[in-house]
Amino acid sequence: MKNAKRSKNSSINSNLNVSGSIFIDMDANRRRVDKLLSDKWKIERELEQIQAECKHSKQVIKQVADTTSSSFRHVCESCGHPLGYLSPEEAVTFLKKS
Ligand SMILES: [Zn+2]
Repeated sequence: MKNAKRSKNSSINSNLNVSGSIFIDMDANRRRVDKLLSDKWKIERELEQIQAECKHSKQVIKQVADTTSSSFRHVCESCGHPLGYLSPEEAVTFLKKS
């Protein structure tokens, strides 16, 4: 058994590519995940940066989804930063309009 493997190994150097490519695929997935996570981090930082610099000069009412439900909020039209909940009066007015 051992001898057979050994003789195979010495004769199939070109077959190293087969096992090599499997390793490279796994590695590529890991690298893709790493890249996506780092892109995600960069994107989140960029959004934070934009929202931090934004003057939030124009508010709009939008439906914002959070973990438990979605509700109407005041958000900045420019950067999407949530600026506050609607008062009951505002909610009524908004729902009447739409
Ligand atoms: Zn803004």
